[in-house]
Amino acid sequence: MKEIKIFEGQGVHAGFTQRPEKSNHIRAMLANEAQGRGDLVLWPYLVHGTRIAVLRDLPEGEAPLKVPKAPDFLSLKELLPQTSGNGENAAETQTCPAPFDGKLRFALSYYGSALATDVAVNSAWAKGEQADAPALEWRSEALLGIEATDGCVTDVPGVVLTSTHGDCLPIYICDPVRRAIGLAHAGWRGTYDGIAAVLAETMMREFGSDPEDMLVYIGPGIDFCCFEVNGDVAEAFTDRYYWAQEMTAVKPLRFEAPEASDAASGQEPEPVQKYLVDLKAINDELLKICGIPEENITISGDCTVCDAENYYSHRRAKEKDRMLAYICLERQENA
Ligand SMILES: [Zn+2]
Repeated sequence: MKEIKIFEGQGVHAGFTQRPEKSNHIRAMLANEAQGRGDLVLWPYLVHGTRIAVLRDLPEGEAPLKVPKAPDFLSLKELLPQTSGNGENAAETQTCPAPFDGKLRFALSYYGSALATDVAVNSAWAKGEQADAPALEWRSEALLGIEATDGCVTDVPGVVLTSTHGDCLPIYICDPVRRAIGLAHAGWRGTYDGIAAVLAETMMREFGSDPEDMLVYIGPGIDFCCFEVNGDVAEAFTDRYYWAQEMTAVKPLRFEAPEASDAASGQEPEPVQKYLVDLKAINDELLKICGIPEENITISGDCTVCDAENYYSHRRAKEKDRMLAYICLERQENA
């Protein structure tokens, strides 16, 4: 698999896949690998905002909470094609032939509301003592009900956070001290709304992460060279972030030929004024404002639009394929 490896030697398994891999294929592969280890791959649906899902271990002995219906959350329904039911019904019990060996309990919180789920396991099947699947029952209304979030954080080893990219930036955070990770999808709307800062702040709040311990990787995505916008978008950034002035640029005025139908009517070419915005630099600055030291932040110099050999790009070619960002805390024995 062709991919960029990230945070090597920090006790995490993280990467960004490149052409010719497709994100669905990589996710299925990660899910297979994770099932073999008794782990879980989360597959969020993006909303291009700043929603962050928090996934954490429940303290020992704490009763799982009553699970409310949570339509706005991560979804496993596409990840688990063999599940019974469609995952739409929050009260439904799902079955899945995954060899989880043991009982996993997760608490999830989202916009302040806590959710919990149990994954009950038939360990006899997991150990190969029983032939018949299904081996496992998901009583995981919370997990199955999750539909959309732009970022996830967790301190649970073995949970693989993923997000898909076709120009929008992946933002990875690893806290090797508190053993917590985060991954966000930052397009221009998420960048404008400060998702990088929301991600870092969520890790500080939920896991007590110290920003000075955080390691950040801002991955490949549309770069300053190619993120061309109209004046209103560039102005929105500089209105919100006074320091973003140097992260925008005015392009030379160009004249665009009128539509063919207008050309016949003898209409003159129209002057078009476009601007460039440096999304990587704006996310970098947001993270530094959170207290993350500059030397802890690595920014990929790769532009997905310019580098057609290695990356898919929505803007370059309206490609439907996507690349996958993923990060997982390794279990301690592997770390
Ligand atoms: Zn470019």
